[in-house]
Amino acid sequence: MRRKLVVGNWKMHLTRDEAASLVGALQEGFVETEAEVGVCPAYLSIGIVRRLLEGAPIALGAQDVFWLDQGAFTGRVSGSMLKDAGVTLCLVGHSETRGRFGKLDVPESTVGFFAETDETVNLKIKALLKHGIAPILCVGETLEEREADRTDSVIQSQLRGALEGIKDFANGVVAYEPVWAIGTGKTCDAAEASRVCGVVRTALRAILGAQADSVRILYGGSVNAANAKELFAQPDIDGGLVGGASLKPADFTKIIAAA
Ligand code: PEP
Repeated sequence: MRRKLVVGNWKMHLTRDEAASLVGALQEGFVETEAEVGVCPAYLSIGIVRRLLEGAPIALGAQDVFWLDQGAFTGRVSGSMLKDAGVTLCLVGHSETRGRFGKLDVPESTVGFFAETDETVNLKIKALLKHGIAPILCVGETLEEREADRTDSVIQSQLRGALEGIKDFANGVVAYEPVWAIGTGKTCDAAEASRVCGVVRTALRAILGAQADSVRILYGGSVNAANAKELFAQPDIDGGLVGGASLKPADFTKIIAAA
């Protein structure tokens, strides 16, 4: 039986003081749950969030990693640094780091800056596994790909590329996040989200064999306090990756309770 998992992605939000207030509010409203819960603050808030979460049943995550341990890589943060900072979970291949925005609110000419590929995602997963940090591998199709009936093939190909050469992903997590549903308020229909999570499970079995059954598969994309219960009740959804609603303690608490 897989334990449900709910992870908040704070993206590029919150100063350290604001992050501290959010952690305080989350702890105050925290209801006992069988689900595992995690939060992924921006790098600069990881230190304070770690201190405040000491002893709390909330795991500390990061939003990205670089694949080498150290060197002349200005602006990057390595897996060994994350491990040292107490991080146990890390997002990889989020559509925003792949440059696949659902609603483009950055200049088109800057999209290539993000430019994550299946190959860099694969290197990052290997780096995280080396340091004992659980990767949360994000996959998902754009609206254009969905409308061209390419959802399943896009996801299968992202999974194959990301997991190339990886033998042990039993502690890993996959988040199915349709790009068109991220930050847009458009949630994927629960039955369809569950169907695609099933496609992810089948692809994982082909890539990883029996251990695929212990990998948690989350849904992400405009999860909120009102739709979480229906999404998490679906047979193939093991929890959620939550962006916007994870910044609102009352909503995130309800989402946790739904899991
Ligand atoms: C995300 O950041 O992964 C996400 C799903 O965002 P939101 O919940 O805001 O759509």
